[in-house]
Amino acid sequence: MDRPRITIFDTTLRDGEQSPGCSMNVQEKLRLAQQLDRLGVDVIEAGFPIASDGDFEAVQSIAASLRRPIIAGLARACTGDVDRAWQALQGAARPRVHVFLATSDIHLKYKLRITREKCLEQARDAVRHAKSLCPDVEFSPEDATRTDVAFLCQVVEAAIAAGATTVNIPDTVGYSMPEEYGNLIRTLQERVAGIDKVTISTHCHNDLGLAVANSLAGVQAGARQVECAINGIGERAGNASLEEIVMAMRVRPDRYPYETAIAGEHLYPSSQMLAEITRVPVQPNKAIIGRNAFAHEAGIHQDGMLKNPLTYEIMTPQSVGVPDSRLVLGKHSGRHALALRCEQLGHQFERRELDEIYRRFVVLADRIKKVQDSHLLELIQDVASGNVSSSDVTGSKGKKFPPAAATLQFPRAVSAAAGANASDSHPAQVSGSAGQASVSIPFTDHHSEQEDYLWGV
Ligand SMILES: [Zn+2]
Repeated sequence: MDRPRITIFDTTLRDGEQSPGCSMNVQEKLRLAQQLDRLGVDVIEAGFPIASDGDFEAVQSIAASLRRPIIAGLARACTGDVDRAWQALQGAARPRVHVFLATSDIHLKYKLRITREKCLEQARDAVRHAKSLCPDVEFSPEDATRTDVAFLCQVVEAAIAAGATTVNIPDTVGYSMPEEYGNLIRTLQERVAGIDKVTISTHCHNDLGLAVANSLAGVQAGARQVECAINGIGERAGNASLEEIVMAMRVRPDRYPYETAIAGEHLYPSSQMLAEITRVPVQPNKAIIGRNAFAHEAGIHQDGMLKNPLTYEIMTPQSVGVPDSRLVLGKHSGRHALALRCEQLGHQFERRELDEIYRRFVVLADRIKKVQDSHLLELIQDVASGNVSSSDVTGSKGKKFPPAAATLQFPRAVSAAAGANASDSHPAQVSGSAGQASVSIPFTDHHSEQEDYLWGV
């Protein structure tokens, strides 16, 4: 199958770094750039060299140390910026100068205080100058989505004529809607002379939560480069999230039949490294790499997951580098999940023993905030030492234990079923990660209801 190849342009170190609290020093940027190289991104925008000496140095050291990816340096549309970017890129095997200039009337009038004519001339001159230094030149008309379309076409055409090899269409303020953004990309292809010879790129911000949707719409309309950032960091609400773009294409090739060179197993490690360096945590429910992205707490979900992960997972944790599917043992968990955790800790139980362990687990869960593996092991030892209250078990069973649940044959049968049902692309996640079962137990005062969930799914 011949799927179009999408260039992944990572701007974590430039646009991402501009987000509050995300600044990094030179060493940190270099370390992250090396991880981006392992991840397989095609272009690393390493910084904005004229912005500060630190930025200059970071671009310089990244350019000197990485040979495979293209290294881009950002420059405003003026000689001084372009020269400084080019200077920082001297050691690069594959340098790119990225020139930008705002084109919307609101930016021209209030920010730049120039006319459209002056804007057109400045864009042309800056690209031409960049091209005289570097064969790979990208041009971005900033605030493109709020620019008069006819004027946008004029500026893009001038930039291409002056030598730009990539034209990037930024939704700088995150204002566009997917259909609208896709149509803009189509319009440019219809109206701009020479655009078929350059790469069209997307750069979408997330102010309305649509950065990824807009980027994908751009790709469907013909864009072949996507600018994005790890964890979706970037100005204000952030940039398009790299991991979401890549996995949307990978999980739904029927809708998005495109290839990227990203090594999926490095997505989660890259996300973790960025969070560690910037100390900006990832929201737990963040798609693909959030703490809860592969966690299943509800008993019915856990039960389905253990029988066949495909019931509730559209991609494997391993495919994005998450070590294991995390079954969170909490208020809504069932015996099945508890049994699996026990098995991962090296203990298999007969039904009656498991009943007692589960009963005690629930009491413990009510009493302390977090149940760790160590607590569970203590509890297991306690039960193993013969301190089983059989009358309690019988009593509970007699009252609440539904017959269907009693037929659960855990753990061997379930593990085998999960293994057998899992397709090649989705192996069962039953391997343990001892010590990691940190479990968030909500405060509850529902002792009267305890029996209900004790015997629930
Ligand atoms: Zn941006």
